[in-house]
Amino acid sequence: MKAVAVIPKQPNSAHLVEMDKPNPGDVGCGRGVMVGVLRVGACGTDHEINTGEYGVAPKGYDYLVLGHENLGRVVAVGENVTEFEPGNYVVATVRRPRGTSVYDKIGEQDFTTDDKYYERGISRLHGYMAEYYVENADFLVQIPSAIADIGVLLEPLSIVEKGLKQASDIQERLKIWRPKTAAVLGVGSVGLLAVMALRMRGYTVHGFGLDHREGYLNAELCEAIGATYDSTAETSIAQSTEKYGPYDLIFECTGYSPIIFDAMQALNENGILILASVTGGDRKADQVPSDKINQMFVLGNRALVGTVNANREHFEMGVKDLALCEAMHPGWLGRMLTHKVVGLENFAEAFEILNNTGKYKAIKTYFEVKKI
Ligand SMILES: [Zn+2]
Repeated sequence: MKAVAVIPKQPNSAHLVEMDKPNPGDVGCGRGVMVGVLRVGACGTDHEINTGEYGVAPKGYDYLVLGHENLGRVVAVGENVTEFEPGNYVVATVRRPRGTSVYDKIGEQDFTTDDKYYERGISRLHGYMAEYYVENADFLVQIPSAIADIGVLLEPLSIVEKGLKQASDIQERLKIWRPKTAAVLGVGSVGLLAVMALRMRGYTVHGFGLDHREGYLNAELCEAIGATYDSTAETSIAQSTEKYGPYDLIFECTGYSPIIFDAMQALNENGILILASVTGGDRKADQVPSDKINQMFVLGNRALVGTVNANREHFEMGVKDLALCEAMHPGWLGRMLTHKVVGLENFAEAFEILNNTGKYKAIKTYFEVKKI
């Protein structure tokens, strides 16, 4: 079978590899599920792995098969799999509990304190940019066939769901928390999914991005789901509170770290700021009003939390939000799937789009490996 792989740490090494087709017996205890891949999303993480920034090959290989955002159909199951049958649509989670930390041992590998991650398509495990994969049934989540065509959005949505779950867990400290207003900083694919998930929870949502509103599809999508959109080129987050009031919750996913200090000053009392951007650079913020921010956090009982990766429960929460959104705003999620690349052999096309997201105005780029 065909797969798209990179030589980790070697820039622009994406290439096609030929591999043996896996079978359910590759996973022990009869728990293996063989899945035929239908769609695989391609995102900034795949781009960064292909530019050589990070990525680790599995033991015994000099290459790493890419791909973590996935949707497939069950082809065959092991003798001890009762929850799936051939024909079911599934999405696989990404991180595996192979580390030594206590969090790995209790199945909370998204909170691992180990430096070595085991993540399919990213670190030490092959990913889903392949025609087939086999996985333990414990790491697969079923997708109703009615929403299979948007199922490839579940993995990026799981990141948002984990952030929101952490926020609600933390806010239990308040006994009563009735948040009304949220801001989402950065309305790329993850940001738009955050806007959606917050709208599904009944928040008044304000999306922010760098681009001007006119002719910007991401802004149009914010408004189509009942959120506002403002360009930070015109209004800073801190200034925006004059118009929209302070925010009970802010979800940050711009990739531009100095904005977090602005966000801290836009939080309502008892509010929470969720940070979800991976910023690998060495940017420093100056002119940070540290006394003011510190005072606001202390006197206003404000909270700040970082979030990465997701666990099975967050994928399950995401399935519900996808289904609810599709019922309330039919077709909205499908509009996020802007760029389709047909066939894994055309991987160069996908990387061309990922290299130039501004030029292509891509929200979600994905491979159609096989028709749904
Ligand atoms: Zn991704």
